[in-house]
Amino acid sequence: MLTLCLYANLLVEMRALFFDGLVLHLIDNYRQPQPEENEALIRVLMAGICGTDMEIMKGYKGFKGIPGHEFVGVVEKVSGGYSSLAGKRVVGEINLGCGTCELCVRGQEKHCPERTALGISDKDGVFAEYMTLPLRNLWEVPSGVADEQAVFTEPLAAAFEIVEQVHVKPTDRVLVLGDGRLGLLAALVLGIGGADVVLAGKHEEKLAIARQQRIKTKRAEKLSRRKAYEIVVEATGNASGIEVALDVVRPRGTIVLKSTVAEETKVNLTRAVVDEVTIVGSRCGPFPPAIAALASGRVDVGPLLSAVYPFSEALKAFEKASEKGVVKVLLDFRKGR
Ligand SMILES: [Zn+2]
Ligand SMILES: [Zn+2]
Repeated sequence: MLTLCLYANLLVEMRALFFDGLVLHLIDNYRQPQPEENEALIRVLMAGICGTDMEIMKGYKGFKGIPGHEFVGVVEKVSGGYSSLAGKRVVGEINLGCGTCELCVRGQEKHCPERTALGISDKDGVFAEYMTLPLRNLWEVPSGVADEQAVFTEPLAAAFEIVEQVHVKPTDRVLVLGDGRLGLLAALVLGIGGADVVLAGKHEEKLAIARQQRIKTKRAEKLSRRKAYEIVVEATGNASGIEVALDVVRPRGTIVLKSTVAEETKVNLTRAVVDEVTIVGSRCGPFPPAIAALASGRVDVGPLLSAVYPFSEALKAFEKASEKGVVKVLLDFRKGR
């Protein structure tokens, strides 16, 4: 009987978006994942389409499987005993380390050489009705934070990583290059500390979102090539963004690189040597300050939300996400099961 139940469990199917290495397919008979020891089975409530997902469609990381890493969901089942997270609404960190190497022990799972990453490398992601993550990756969402806000936690954490890595003084002039999802969030986070932040981009409607939240903006084509900024955050999503950053960063300034791109590029770094520029690579960040900023309203992600599609229209949602002027597109799993 037990064998039969186990067998039945393994055969539970779900709807999922599957990327075969070339195109996305919406399928309704993907096998539901089962949580391993100390993992949770999570029912996805909402998921966000991110620039990295669009890069995956172009071949980034050679990923095949279920993409997606920005989500809010409910813990349906916990494997390996009791967890206070059972039944709770959660968001989750996307890197899964081995848990035993020196980097993992120091809390740097995102740099574990054995790591997988949710919906990015060797681990099915969140564009499916159910997903799994280790319990240690999960953070409970406070009741005052709506699903539509909570789904921004992961990209917002990536913006908070900048202030973890670089000390931004209130007197610093900061330039964020790129008015996409991450550029906007970076500008909002950098603005919290009182620094003079300018967001440069090509899309008037996106720049307007930043201005609503008291961030100065500039049209990218009107950016003077003067070396005027102590800190430049490169979030254009283009391989050539670093060239512009090198043009405008002050001698002894810092460039924070945020774009992950499939395309390769050649950059002459002589200017960085001559100007003694510090170049900082920056990826995923801490969840607690991101959740706190959403809960307190210090960062308002509402204006970044461009469209919400039911999961049954996920392919349309991907088309929408690639349109000009669109910031964030969400998939809603809560209805139409
Ligand atoms: Zn992302
Ligand atoms: Zn490890």
